[in-house]
Amino acid sequence: MVVAPASPLAAPVTTLCGVGPERAAQLARLGLHTIGDLLLHRPRRHEDRRHFHAIADLHLGEAVTVRGRIVALGLKRWRAGRKSVFEFILEDGTARLHCRWWNLPFMQNYFRQGDEVLVFGRVGSLRPRTIDHPETEVVETDVEELIHLNRLVPVYPLTEGLPQRWLRSLLWRVVHEFAPRVPEPWEELALPDPMTRARALHALHFPEETSDVDRARQRLALDEFLDLQVAIQARRRRLQANARALPCAGDNRLMRPFLRQLSFVLTGAQTRVLREIRHDLGGAQPMRRLLQGDVGSGKTVVAACSALMALEGGFSVALMAPTEILAEQHLGTFRRWFESLGVPVELRTGSRKTEDGAALMPSSLAPRLVVGTHALVEDAFSLDRLGLVIIDEQHKFGVAQREQLVRKGRYPHLLVMTATPIPRSLGLTLYGDLDLSVIDQLPAGRGRIKTFVRAADKLPKVWDFIRGQLQRGRQAYVVYPRVEETDRGQLKAVTSEWEKLRQPLAPFQVGLLHGRLGADEKDAVMTAFRAGQIQALVATSVIEVGVDVANATVMLIEHAEQFGLAQLHQLRGRIGRGAHESYCILVADLKTPEAAARLKVLEETNDGFRIAEEDLRLRGPGDLLGREQSGLPPLRFGDLARDQALLERARALARELLDRRSADAGRNPCSDRTWHRGAGIR
Ligand code: ADP
Ligand code: MG
Repeated sequence: MVVAPASPLAAPVTTLCGVGPERAAQLARLGLHTIGDLLLHRPRRHEDRRHFHAIADLHLGEAVTVRGRIVALGLKRWRAGRKSVFEFILEDGTARLHCRWWNLPFMQNYFRQGDEVLVFGRVGSLRPRTIDHPETEVVETDVEELIHLNRLVPVYPLTEGLPQRWLRSLLWRVVHEFAPRVPEPWEELALPDPMTRARALHALHFPEETSDVDRARQRLALDEFLDLQVAIQARRRRLQANARALPCAGDNRLMRPFLRQLSFVLTGAQTRVLREIRHDLGGAQPMRRLLQGDVGSGKTVVAACSALMALEGGFSVALMAPTEILAEQHLGTFRRWFESLGVPVELRTGSRKTEDGAALMPSSLAPRLVVGTHALVEDAFSLDRLGLVIIDEQHKFGVAQREQLVRKGRYPHLLVMTATPIPRSLGLTLYGDLDLSVIDQLPAGRGRIKTFVRAADKLPKVWDFIRGQLQRGRQAYVVYPRVEETDRGQLKAVTSEWEKLRQPLAPFQVGLLHGRLGADEKDAVMTAFRAGQIQALVATSVIEVGVDVANATVMLIEHAEQFGLAQLHQLRGRIGRGAHESYCILVADLKTPEAAARLKVLEETNDGFRIAEEDLRLRGPGDLLGREQSGLPPLRFGDLARDQALLERARALARELLDRRSADAGRNPCSDRTWHRGAGIR
């Protein structure tokens, strides 16, 4: 927030005349504690009360505002009073309109015959003209016409007991008294905007024209984005000003034999990215780099090579993964890769803290790789000479966890990897302080993935098809949204479906995997699946991240409509990792055209970025990143799906602002220039 504590805007709402403890408590429930909060309380919509619709001219389905007088009203009850409808009839001189509320008998307390009422809603029928459950406002005789009528009127989110008209009157006063006193927050920048923050706050509540509202929102969104970008970029500059990087570029001593023993050759994209990383690891400031590459693009081996560079320099490396399943898989992969190089690889997860570590105590001073889950950020864990922190599937962690792990060392280098392609606007917000490397090429020789969306009645055919694949020696994943059936039982759950599938799929072995299993159980199932002893794996979305079994060619997802597109894309990324053609089958309830259209995107494209943009547009950032702590700041006015241009502008302005501030502070401007050198997210 841009409001300084001494400002009148920081005064509590109770300093306003007419706001007592009861009203203050109601406002507090809406998160409104200060005058500044009130100014930022965003109207849900504006209603055009300069013109009302004539009841005689209403059209079916139209959203209308009508002004009239109640000529009749009454409540009907039936089924022993459990069902009711309250209705009034409104007359505006042209015709009559019925307004009804089902099963809300207390509505009758709010209206009397003869009341003048404003009604907003969608016309549900024309014979008679009816609106069900409209929003209403009784026109009081002593109203100031100025505030509630004859203008674009704000309609606010409310809470129990807080009347719309009261809040609107309060905001009218607050806006007129305090908005003009809101200073321009970025004096140094001299924003060319004709819409100052003060004017934007006024127009947000009481606009002259409909178009003012969005201009106001954009101005306030810009301030919000600027706040964020200044914080992100300042953090980065502080780090660069203070930190001395550890020399982790390595000498190829381990890298050469590693690449020789590797069963494949690195792609051009992997090699390019590794050059960027090596450059950073040998640089003057600690690396802060985001490695982005679609599912299956081969990020793990890039992590391995980066780790080897640090290990060659005599430093240890920590690698954090979001699930135990993935951590165990990495442990296996890295042990296989690093064994002949003599590099110790340890595991640290919630359920396996010491076991492996203890075994390695004698060599505990040797540079090592520790693979783990978020257990790595726990206080007890520490690693000598920590040179490089790698975070896999960063989008599953918050920024806070990332920073906690970095703090385990003295300015170690940081490489964060993400498979979910993040739309650029989200990237700028979440990872704006990181330089970006992209693996934009899949390893050659991969089979294609075909994707099909099917209704549930096609399942028998789908199972025939899957059996055929298993007969050819391939393996399959079957994903359900729930671990256990809920009371309502509308969604299939892994545990019960697993029971049901074992018989019909015999003689094939069917495994069960979900997050509530113990670490050993999970590990045993994954090991058996990897070894081909289990042919079909029934799982929840725990397998979404990182799991890598090249022989698996089928991904069947039931209730696909329950998942986000980016998540489905991640799940689909579990197949198509070998040379065989693969099949992703999305079984979904396609009742609504939206659900069908949404899933069709996956049929049409394998391009993770397109899918992510689509998901952001349809579901918003919280869903895109999963329910996990996304590290996204709450945005009141900014909209990451729509405001990309604004965000870019904020980013440039933040840079300009910090440049000026550091020039003013008389610091060496060179330290700022080095920051521009990085291939930052642009
Ligand atoms: P992701 O980017 O999704 O983490 P992985 O690192 O799991 O992908 O890689 C997917 C699979 O591709 C792994 O089995 C890995 O060994 C293999 N792989 C990685 N790079 C190459 C390459 N250059 N050529 C062939 N296979 C590769
Ligand atoms: Mg991975």
